Amino acid sequence: MRLRNISGSREIIGESEFVIREPEKQKGSWRSVFGNDRPIHIEIGMGKGRFIMDMAKAYPDINYIGIEKYSSVLLRAIQKMEQKEALPNIRFVRMDAETITEVFREKEVERIYLNFSDPWPKDRHAKRRLPSKEFLARYDKILAKEGHLEFKTDNKDLFLFALEELENAGWRAEKVTYDLHRDEEMMRGNIMTEYEDKFSSLGNPIYKYIIVR
Ligand code: SAM
Repeated sequence: MRLRNISGSREIIGESEFVIREPEKQKGSWRSVFGNDRPIHIEIGMGKGRFIMDMAKAYPDINYIGIEKYSSVLLRAIQKMEQKEALPNIRFVRMDAETITEVFREKEVERIYLNFSDPWPKDRHAKRRLPSKEFLARYDKILAKEGHLEFKTDNKDLFLFALEELENAGWRAEKVTYDLHRDEEMMRGNIMTEYEDKFSSLGNPIYKYIIVR
């Protein structure tokens, strides 16, 4: 998702109390950003933030960090926080997740969500895909013992690639579904993302895996 460049978005992001600037400086001390000792859950590629905000409302005892590469997209989430509901347990970071290990210390994150990640269909771009083995190696560093990685998509090719990458990396999926919205057990407590809403309402099946490290 890349919205048209919105003038002033960088400035708004620069001033927002919900955005953590220079996130590398918080490496190892993210809990102090929230002023408590609660678990840290992150969403990488959060888009306009519907999922992470609904999660933060549903689970006030978790600290959520939403990561998004583009200012124009992140801006939408900030506007919702500032104009509708300021949630105390969310912060946002504008960054490319390629450098995620510079931002979180080893085992600092209890859960990572990847939702409807960009497919990067050309083979030569495979390592840019968020569920690729290159990214799995990064997640492996920052995930706590028994930490979770959860991935949802409507893109079958990307999902099959993601399952192969798990195998290549020696990771085992705890749960897999090829039709989340008809899987009673995995749907329990499901919180929709913007893309999930859009694609499931068109009748597309949603694929999901859950990993426990
Ligand atoms: N997760 C949202 C949803 O399910 O509605 C948005 C999905 S959108 C297709 C993917 C988002 O991931 C885009 O906003 C894109 O900018 C972001 N993204 C892609 N690669 C990224 C990266 N390396 N680091 C941070 N964000 C990334």
